[in-house]
Amino acid sequence: MRLSRSFIPTIKEIPAEAQIASHRLMLRAGLVRQTSAGIYAWLPLGHRVLKNIERIVRQEQDAAGAQELLMPTIQPAELWRESGRYEDYGKEMLRIRDRHERDMLYGPTNEEMITDLFRQTVKSYRELPQILYHIQWKFRDEVRPRFGVMRGREFLMKDAYSFDIDYVGAVASYRRMMLAYMRTFQRLGLKAIPMAADSGPIGGDLSHEFIILAPTGESQVYYDKDFEEIDWVKSDFDYGSPDDLQSFFYLMTSMYAATDEKHAPAAWQIVPPERRREGRGIEVGHIFYFGTKYSKAMNCTVATPEGRPVHPEMGSYGIGVSRLVGAIIEASHDDAGIIWPDSIAPFKAAILNLKRGDAACDALCETLYATLGPAAALYDDRDDRAGVKFADADLMGHPWQIVVGPRGAAAGKVELKRRATGERHEVTPEDALARIG
Ligand code: ATP
Ligand code: MG
Repeated sequence: MRLSRSFIPTIKEIPAEAQIASHRLMLRAGLVRQTSAGIYAWLPLGHRVLKNIERIVRQEQDAAGAQELLMPTIQPAELWRESGRYEDYGKEMLRIRDRHERDMLYGPTNEEMITDLFRQTVKSYRELPQILYHIQWKFRDEVRPRFGVMRGREFLMKDAYSFDIDYVGAVASYRRMMLAYMRTFQRLGLKAIPMAADSGPIGGDLSHEFIILAPTGESQVYYDKDFEEIDWVKSDFDYGSPDDLQSFFYLMTSMYAATDEKHAPAAWQIVPPERRREGRGIEVGHIFYFGTKYSKAMNCTVATPEGRPVHPEMGSYGIGVSRLVGAIIEASHDDAGIIWPDSIAPFKAAILNLKRGDAACDALCETLYATLGPAAALYDDRDDRAGVKFADADLMGHPWQIVVGPRGAAAGKVELKRRATGERHEVTPEDALARIG
């Protein structure tokens, strides 16, 4: 994309309403704009990041054997009356009435709807197990929306739901999702630690929150540093092998990890001091097993091999896709701006033309831009001072900057800067392209 023609409204002033770095940077770099309290429009730069996160989440869900579908945002109240949650959910639920006076709501989550779809369709144990997911907007009328997209009212979530014939099957689905989550967060460039959690209003007893480390996190966390040292993407745990899933789960739960609510000082003392890590954390995902809570309440049954009707065992698995944009920035920024992990950066590289109108600069920039293509490169072709271009490139956080000045261009050289480390090298354009990959 050419910056001169783009819709990327960067701002220099620090927005007064933003209390934390990610919120300030998302506004300043032109990723989002608030349209009403806790509700945001995603502008092109932010939208690209959101789509990149979605893509990785989707690939890992698919690899784990989950199937994508898309349920609507608007749901009938009837389903929630069946489960008993219509009253329980309270003021967080946005309730709507249509022209026929029917009670509707903007979905805060989808357990009821997926259970309804499932009970209409699946009748036999032969069709199990199933893991179904979608990536869809949710609405929760949070009392205090804050920190930008981190605690919004409208937010994008990946939510998956598992259906199994028995407890053993449900536990296997749970482990499968847990492995998928470790791989997903690692690919997003994050250190995510699964922590045993209360299952909250959704109920059940097997529940983990995935917490990423960032100084502004809402909870204090304690964990074993071994979590950080395992490469989950390369690890050869196989989704098809129950033994693999069991040893993976054993590994996960044998290392210490707890939020302040669950912290157990006695068990913590057993972790060798050099392996103890603590810090602040942000919840980016949550998985839980809740048994037959919804299948029973909503009269959803499948037939066993003996022909006996049983309520399927269920679990649900959320990832806060839009919260992740803020959380990743919290975990990865400096005073100058955002530092995107390569896997989700809106553009791989920025090309900075330091002297527009200089024939050699213009020609070299155009060649670089044509080679990288508009999807990978943001070409700063504006009529601005070099200082403005440097500052904006740092603010927007592209992993690479290719700086093209008149002297270098005449000598067939560019400066290649790596945003994360600040390292700069004078190289030929070919070398720059090769390093960017
Ligand atoms: P929290 O404890 O932060 O309020 P939750 O436990 O209510 O979240 P879940 O129902 O577990 O949230 O939803 C799954 C994921 O959706 C969370 O792990 C989080 O990443 C994300 N999420 C939840 N609420 C919000 C929100 N208001 N804004 C943005 N993301 C959210
Ligand atoms: Mg939660």
